[in-house]
Amino acid sequence: MSAVSGHMFFPARLVLPLGCLALGFGVPLRAEAPRGATPLPPPGAPVSVAPHLASDWKAGAARVVVTPPKLLWMAGYAGRNKPAEGKVQDLFAKALALEDGTGNRLVVVTLDLIGVPRELRLDIAERVRETHGLPAANLILNASHTHSGPQLRTRPPTPAELEDGKTAGALEYTEKLKGDLCRVIDEAIAGLAPARLTWNKARCGFAMNRRRDFTLPAGHPNADKAPNPDGPVDHEVPALRVEGADGRVKAVLFGYACHNTCLGFYNYCGDYAGFAQQYLEEHRPDFVALFLTGCGADQNPYPRRSDVVPGVTDLELAMQHGRSLSNAVEVAITANPRPVGGPIRAAYEEIPLAYAKADRAPHLYPVQVIRFGGDLVLITLGSEVVVDYSLRFKKEFAGPAGVWVAGYSNDYNGYIPSLRVLREGGYEAATGWAESVESRIAEAVHRLHREVSR
Ligand SMILES: [Zn+2]
Repeated sequence: MSAVSGHMFFPARLVLPLGCLALGFGVPLRAEAPRGATPLPPPGAPVSVAPHLASDWKAGAARVVVTPPKLLWMAGYAGRNKPAEGKVQDLFAKALALEDGTGNRLVVVTLDLIGVPRELRLDIAERVRETHGLPAANLILNASHTHSGPQLRTRPPTPAELEDGKTAGALEYTEKLKGDLCRVIDEAIAGLAPARLTWNKARCGFAMNRRRDFTLPAGHPNADKAPNPDGPVDHEVPALRVEGADGRVKAVLFGYACHNTCLGFYNYCGDYAGFAQQYLEEHRPDFVALFLTGCGADQNPYPRRSDVVPGVTDLELAMQHGRSLSNAVEVAITANPRPVGGPIRAAYEEIPLAYAKADRAPHLYPVQVIRFGGDLVLITLGSEVVVDYSLRFKKEFAGPAGVWVAGYSNDYNGYIPSLRVLREGGYEAATGWAESVESRIAEAVHRLHREVSR
């Protein structure tokens, strides 16, 4: 895969001499021993991490470039004052199709984009139900929340929006995206072939709670300072390894709970998650790495932004965080593999989530629970979910089956604070939800968990 083409922002200081480890751009390079030193051995052949497991799954994975061909206005920051000017990395939509031994399927779609608008989710779920008979509960759409991608749009612009031009091209882009998503799902399903699944987790530490410490008394010198090193975080990196019957790894689905906001420039880029996926895919032909965003609404990557580390740009920080995440994934898919068996059982519900203002109509909010036999439970929640939910459900469902919680799935409608965050206030509390927000979501998760566990 070449990451270098088209409109290109390419700082001269990232051009590396041959023989150095590539930082991620251009032709992948391998480290070589210097002249006179003992030559490094060639890389070994791929081997199964769990050859004792039967290849009784079927799996297929595919990806499609969704970088806009035009320089559109970008999503994520309200302060943008001009459209994109180029790209440093392509944006992808990727699909992983899994089929258990009895024919139940799960399709996971990940996007290097800002979010999954509800209308987009409903449209794709309906099309995939028609073409493949896939139940809506068995489809996950998740976005990396990169702030270096285009705006998405499912409704025509208003006259005022037409006037300011900021949404120009976004509706056409989103319409084309729907076709791309259907095609990448078709391709993943068409590629279903015998596979074995394992999972485990590792840790990665660059996410930090980005809110101020609300436990400090007013007047404390750090009372208004963020980030908060004592604030809650979820540093786990869960990773589902998909290997073919020959032992060759075909795909990995991995998660992390952190905003993709290393970057604030005007170039298309997947941010740290884009680089993590790129690094995992380098040197592995026909391999697909998919990033499933966790409950990172109150988490930012640190160190963050240029000039914090002298001489290191925010692009380099994005690449470094991407490398540390990809390294964690490499550990998670090789260390002590835990078998993942079927059957797949899936439950999905849209619950009415009330706003604090009684005259505001409730929002239909998607909650989804997927169970892989007795081995793994994957919970997905819509919109920007704070880390408290992930920590809560991992504690409440702790047991023989691993618990994996994703946010940013199937909907994109502002922040989802916990009751704690809502009462503290601040940026992530400002969407206007009623105080029932956490209890309603938790009730639904428990209900669906019971349903898939019966
Ligand atoms: Zn956000």
